[in-house]
Amino acid sequence: MKRPRSKAARAAHAAELAPRLADLYPDLDISLDWETPLELIVATVLSAQCTDERVNRVTATLFEDYPDAEAYAGASLEALEEAVRPTGFFRNKARHIQGLATRLLESYGGEVPRTMDDLLTLPGVARKTANVVLSNAFGIHVGIVVDTHVKRVAKRLGLTKETDPKKVEADLMEILPEDEWHAFPWRLILHGRNVCTARKPVCGECAVSDVCPSAFTFG
Ligand code: SF4
Repeated sequence: MKRPRSKAARAAHAAELAPRLADLYPDLDISLDWETPLELIVATVLSAQCTDERVNRVTATLFEDYPDAEAYAGASLEALEEAVRPTGFFRNKARHIQGLATRLLESYGGEVPRTMDDLLTLPGVARKTANVVLSNAFGIHVGIVVDTHVKRVAKRLGLTKETDPKKVEADLMEILPEDEWHAFPWRLILHGRNVCTARKPVCGECAVSDVCPSAFTFG
C-alpha cells in the first residue's frame, strides 16, 4: 500500500489499524512490576536500555529495601548504584532516582505528582516516563508514550514520518482519538518487540502487512 500523506489519510489508517492491533494484543498490562506510583516511576527510569524482565528482577529486592522517597533520598549513592547495577547505566540511573526522590520530598510531600508539568521537573523524567506514570498509575492520558518501538513501528506503518519522539507523539496525538492514547502505543510496543523488530521485521508473519507501506521492503 501507499504511504498515507495527509492528516485525514493517516487518521483513517490509524482507525483501521487500531481494532486489528487490539485483536492481536488484547492484554494491556504493563510488563513492569509495580504497586505504587513511586515504584512505577523508579521501574520506568530503570527500564531505559534494559529489558523489563531484568528490571523486575532488580526491583523485587529494591522495592523492599527502599520503600519510599525518604529511603532513596537518604541512601548512600554507592549502595543505590550497586542495587541497580544489573540494569545498565547504573550511575546515571541511581543519580536520577535519588534526585527525583529528593525533589519529591522537597516539593511534593514525598508523593509522585499527577501533572505532566510537575513530573517533568523530576530529574531523569522526560515525556515518555511521565506518560507511562500518568496513564498507568493515575489513568490520566495527556500524551502518548513514544519509546524506541513506538517510534520505529509508527514510522514503518506510515503513521508518521518523524523520528524525533516529541514530533512522533504530536503526530500520533493528532490522528488518534483520546481513548486510544493509552492502548495504541502499548500495542505498537508489543508489535515492535514480537514482530516488527528493529533489525529483522518478520513481515511474512505480520498480521497487518496488508496495510503496511513498509511491508517486505527490508533486505
Ligand atoms: S509488515 Fe513488516 S514493517 Fe510492516 S509492521 Fe509488519 S513487520 Fe513491521
